[in-house]
Amino acid sequence: MRYDLLIKNGYVVDYATGREGYFDVAVQNGLVTAVESSISGSAAQEIDASGKLILPGLVDSHVHASAWLGGSYAHAMLIKAGVTSALDMSGPGTSVLELARDYGVGLNLATIEYVRPGHTVSTADPSAAELQELLERVLRQGSLGIKLLGGHYPLTVAATARAIKTAADMGAYTAFHAGTAEHGSNIEGMLEAVELADGNPLHLAHINAYCRGTVRPETEETELALKALLDNPNISCESYLSPLNGTSAEIIDGLPGSMVTRRCLKTGGFTEDEAGMEAALLAGWAQVNYPQGQEMTLLTGEPARDYWLEQKTLVSVSFVVNPVGPRVRLATAKKADGGFIVDAISTDGGGIPRNVLLPAGLALVDLGGLTLQELVAKISYLPAQMLGLTNKGSLAAGWDADITIVDRLQRSVFATIVGGQVCYIDGKILGRGGKIITTAAGADYVRSQGLEPLIVDLADSSVLRKARK
Ligand SMILES: [Zn+2]
Repeated sequence: MRYDLLIKNGYVVDYATGREGYFDVAVQNGLVTAVESSISGSAAQEIDASGKLILPGLVDSHVHASAWLGGSYAHAMLIKAGVTSALDMSGPGTSVLELARDYGVGLNLATIEYVRPGHTVSTADPSAAELQELLERVLRQGSLGIKLLGGHYPLTVAATARAIKTAADMGAYTAFHAGTAEHGSNIEGMLEAVELADGNPLHLAHINAYCRGTVRPETEETELALKALLDNPNISCESYLSPLNGTSAEIIDGLPGSMVTRRCLKTGGFTEDEAGMEAALLAGWAQVNYPQGQEMTLLTGEPARDYWLEQKTLVSVSFVVNPVGPRVRLATAKKADGGFIVDAISTDGGGIPRNVLLPAGLALVDLGGLTLQELVAKISYLPAQMLGLTNKGSLAAGWDADITIVDRLQRSVFATIVGGQVCYIDGKILGRGGKIITTAAGADYVRSQGLEPLIVDLADSSVLRKARK
């Protein structure tokens, strides 16, 4: 037998099949064809994975890869981090597709369109008709649905509920960064979001971001969040493991445009205005996301302040605002039946420099918080299910050959393989292009942009399937 690719001598960890141990993995025509203790035969390409883990390709259910947020480096940063499929969580979809075409390195990428007053909707109180129109347009343009950016750019309470219901009625994907005109991006906003979903399907973003201890002690907030999720099985969600957040440093009329940014300035003891932002940059509390080489890095002090001014304040910044307790608890918390309360571990990374699925995930394994198989469930199988990727997230024969090979001791990625193509190996990026994960409604537009669609049926998405109604 002659294979396209043969990966030898690695330690396979597969949650879906429960398989774990030393196996060879054979790939043919973009699919896993065999996983056996020893596979003989030749291959066009062979990888020696001695001393390495062979995992189903990582799926990151929360990244940023648009010109507005994340930028053109997101693709290279994700493939180097072992990610094979990802969900861009804000769009604009047209920008996400342009960057994928121009900077793609083999990644499969989905996107959802942000709902922001003055940008994609006229006011903070859009009607159902306006929301429906927005949804129809973005679905045609390849998006899976919408992202409510409430925590940053809030809608009214009523419009938030309307948006969730309108998308549910249309069978579209909705994600929500909790917060409305009445509640902020905190535990109160999260509990309100769960109420406003009213049994409809909803992907509630980065649960850890609502448990920073800004309203009540952080442990109390975390347990309240977990209880709300247990009580509302229509909510799907992820949490991330980085201490860093990511937000906008844009100043509008002398004030940070994002409510999250204002909150972070206050937390650091700075005034919630332009002067406070400048002081926070100079003091190192705000870290500018700065392009260097092929990556976004973190910059502080005077160079950060100068870059921010040079870019007319339109840059992303990160603050160290995520306490460790809630991050660990949310990543590991289980229901009575053994299932996870928070579906997936994400990064909220992409072009924001915190793509730590593997290093932070393996650290949790080493601490005894998760087994290797559980980690694979949370960073591959379950997020694949969220996106309706029914043939990804496992190394079973016949599934897509999306594979991440990991240096176990270094907790670093050795190779990233997408659809049988080696896109990254041993420090070198080899991949090109990539597919846009879209619904049938968006396939033509994706093709018109010079990209290949990977068509999913959102009825297969665990997010939409989990709904009560
Ligand atoms: Zn995000």
